[in-house]
Formats: sequence, C-alpha cells, structure tokens
Amino acid sequence: MSEKGNAIVLLGPPGSGKSSLSDKTDMSSKIAVLESGNLLRQEIERGSKLGRKIEAYMEKGKLVSSGLVIDVIGRAMRDIGEMTIVFDGFPRQKDQIIPFFAMITENKYRLSAVIILQIAKDIAIKRIMGRRICPNCGAVYNVYFDPPSKSGLCDRCGGRLIKRKDDTIETINNRWRIYEKQTNPIIDYFEENYPNTIHKISANKDIDQVADMVSSVVRDAM
Ligand code: AMP
Repeated sequence: MSEKGNAIVLLGPPGSGKSSLSDKTDMSSKIAVLESGNLLRQEIERGSKLGRKIEAYMEKGKLVSSGLVIDVIGRAMRDIGEMTIVFDGFPRQKDQIIPFFAMITENKYRLSAVIILQIAKDIAIKRIMGRRICPNCGAVYNVYFDPPSKSGLCDRCGGRLIKRKDDTIETINNRWRIYEKQTNPIIDYFEENYPNTIHKISANKDIDQVADMVSSVVRDAM
C-alpha cells in the first residue's frame, strides 16, 4: 500500500507559541494536529485512571512518562484518516524517538519536516504568564499579546477562560530546564539523521507572523 500521508514534527520550548499555532496556522482540512500537551490535558479532564497518573507529572511541570504519552498519542492517531499529521510536542525525549518512528511507519506515514521554534527565554516567560485557555473549545489567548474581546471570555464559544495549572513561574523554569536537557538531544538526533527535514523558525516575532511561516513550511511538506 502507498503512504497515507506525511508526518511533521513541531518542537519548541515552553512559551514559543506552539499551542496557539494550531489555532492560527492555516491548517487545511487535509491536516490533523496531534498536540501532545492538549491530548494529555483532555485525558486528565476525562478523570480516567490514566488521566490521574498523567496529572501527577504535569502539575509539577515534569515530562509525563513516555509509556503514558505513547498510549494517548497512539489512540488519537488511530482515529485519523488519510491526512498530513503535525505532531506538536512529540517526540519530546529520547526514548520517544523509536516509538514515534514505529507509530508512523505502522500507520504508513513518512517524516517530511521537523519544525523547530526558537525563542528568547524572557519573551517566552511573559507569554506563558499571560496565557489563558478556553477549557470548552481549546482556544488560546494572551492578556498581553492577544486578549479576547471581552475580558475573561472566549470569543469563539463564550466559555470562561482559565490559566493553565502548569503556567506558574516555578513550573516554567522547570519546563525550560527539561526542554534544554531532554528535547535538545532530540533536535540533535533529527539534525544528524534527517538534515533535509529541518526548518528553524524564530518565534520571537508576533504569533501571526510565526504562524504564517509555519503554515508555509507545512504546505511545502505536504
Ligand atoms: P505543552 O502543552 O506542549 O506545553 O505540554 C504541557 C505538558 O504536557 C508538559 O510540560 C509535559 O508535562 C506534558 N507533555 C506534553 N508532551 C509530552 C511528551 N511528548 N512527553 C512527555 N510529556 C509531555
């Protein structure tokens, strides 16, 4: 059988705007975004046994154990038809590389791009502290850079906006340290083994500009 589609990996430190991008990026109906952080949060919301295990890691700003992440992503991937998949935030540590390739190969996908967002830490911290999300529809806002039209309410569905539990200064610093320690080796791995797929994008700019650049790489990689 021929390939079902292309797999694109999107990586970036906390605050680089990854979770806003799926909203802003011009993702056609031929693209599915699998956002690991969001899928894990949905599992917590469901209140399942798996969700409770995940929560114990996430509320401390720790990476969730890879077995649990792979479970959740593998399940979400099975529900997707023939589309390009953007993996947002996965793989994020070294022991997820082999399962990632196993997953895409099994499902007949081919790695076509690795997008790496780069941002200065002080800008990232301001973005994270201002972030508000809609628990109803997943829309993301920022009280400094991208506020909703009515304070505290989602423009899209009217839901009451909340701060993510892990958006505190302690967990942000922790998540940065973890990104540098765990995710930088993944970037090195892709650079070494798949150099033609690498696209580094500066995320210091306005989120709409970043989204345009990401959209253009995604379109070219489809
Ligand atoms: P994010 O929404 O991408 O900032 O992710 C939020 C949190 O979800 C992270 O701090 C981790 O606790 C967890 N997480 C997301 N993706 C992964 C992954 N691939 N491996 C382990 N933990 C993850």
